[in-house]
Amino acid sequence: MSHTLTPVTSSECPCGGYRQLTHYQACCQPYHMGQLAANPEVLMRARYSAFALQRTDFIQRTWAAETCPADLTGDSDTQWVALKVISSQVNPPPRQHTGSVHFKATCLDTEGRQHCLEERSRFIKRQGEWFYLDGKTKFTEVAASL
Ligand SMILES: [Zn+2]
Repeated sequence: MSHTLTPVTSSECPCGGYRQLTHYQACCQPYHMGQLAANPEVLMRARYSAFALQRTDFIQRTWAAETCPADLTGDSDTQWVALKVISSQVNPPPRQHTGSVHFKATCLDTEGRQHCLEERSRFIKRQGEWFYLDGKTKFTEVAASL
């Protein structure tokens, strides 16, 4: 398994792109501008990009009110560099208003150490809009290979 990081150009979406859409303007930006995500994976990608771009407003707006932390600032020193969605799903009826995404995200801390965040997130749909509910996370330091 390779941990080689690809440099991200300014127009490339931080999430790495969804299907054929790889540019930020076509990928996650519309959601940051107010378009509703059609499924949990799209929302999860847009939230990852919002973390990478420090768009705290979007992260807060798409977090279920009952689990959203009061203070979302604090990890602005973390640099998000890569996202890999392993699987995503919307549950079958009658639970079609819930879904989940399993992903791995790579970040660098202030000392340039690489970490991997693996999360199984749960999402909930309310009034036609998906929200992040909560997740089980595993945070590991990746052996230095830079
Ligand atoms: Zn994106």
